[in-house]
Amino acid sequence: MLRAPLLAAARSKGIRRLVEAVPATRSVVRRFVAGSETADAVRVARELATGGWRITLDHLGEDTTDAAQAAATVAAYEAVLSALASEGLADGADVSVKLSAVGQFLPSNGEDVALENARKICAAADAVGATVTLDMEDHTTTDSTLGILRELRGEYPWVGAVLQAYLRRTEQDCRELSGPGSRVRLCKGAYAEPESAAFQDKADVDKSYVRCLRVLMAGSGYPMVASHDPRMIEIAAALADEHGRTDDDHEFQMLYGIRPEEQARIAASGSRMRVYVPYGDEWYGYFMRRLAERPANLGFFLRGLATR
Ligand code: FAD
Repeated sequence: MLRAPLLAAARSKGIRRLVEAVPATRSVVRRFVAGSETADAVRVARELATGGWRITLDHLGEDTTDAAQAAATVAAYEAVLSALASEGLADGADVSVKLSAVGQFLPSNGEDVALENARKICAAADAVGATVTLDMEDHTTTDSTLGILRELRGEYPWVGAVLQAYLRRTEQDCRELSGPGSRVRLCKGAYAEPESAAFQDKADVDKSYVRCLRVLMAGSGYPMVASHDPRMIEIAAALADEHGRTDDDHEFQMLYGIRPEEQARIAASGSRMRVYVPYGDEWYGYFMRRLAERPANLGFFLRGLATR
């Protein structure tokens, strides 16, 4: 019931100002966000590496309509990749990039700017042995994002993308992206979407997730199972076995701060476990989507404010 208003609030500048103005908010946000600085992202990457986890770092930001801001985002990714390399943490690391943060929505030539900026991030990742995965935003951007993915893979075949099981189109997208070398991070989807584009019932989203998993696990790419849902994780593990996959040719992924004990269990079992670690000051949209996913988080947030 709260999902729709929270997702609407995630895009409201007025509510954003209100939430950000509460001094105690930041310490609550810390549960989901590593910190503001490159050094915070590297610190968390180091801690997770010690426990056998892999990482994908997200420099927070989205919906940029300013070319200078898009360029600053590129510079932030270049800086964090270089910092990971100097700490010996870059090999096998990944960065997650929202194309809307690097220019996709700029009024003139947005897609070209986003492609060029994403290409710079790929070059920086390539230089240090890391990979790049394109996050997926609302359904109006899917074709554009997959088009940019195709361009980037011509030069950097290891670039991955997120597909969202709640979209009706995604089973077909999985078929098209299940070939050799492709890396697909399958998630359920976190945005408010119309019925014409997306399944609305949780049960239908879950069924779609399983159908997509079947396609990806049967294919010859590298499936990345991004879910905290115990049923999806169990089904993914069974399908990986059924298709003779080893621990090296698929992985599980979860968000920083969510079900850490399950993250530890998966890593200890020998499967690859990668944690999506957001950092930076632009945490508002990301944080609100986490509240929308789980009403209990809203209670946690409000209690956190009340006790400060
Ligand atoms: P759910 O059915 O939502 O949750 C299953 C269980 O997981 C819940 O019962 C609860 O125990 C736990 N849980 C789930 N969410 C939370 C939470 N916020 N707080 C606490 N517990 C929780 N979405 C996009 O639209 N685009 C992306 O690019 C994208 N990238 C992602 C990358 C990764 C690595 C992951 C893990 C998720 C990503 N998402 C993205 C978010 C995703 O779409 C879902 O909104 C989110 O993962 C919740 O779905 P679920 O599969 O965990 O299942």
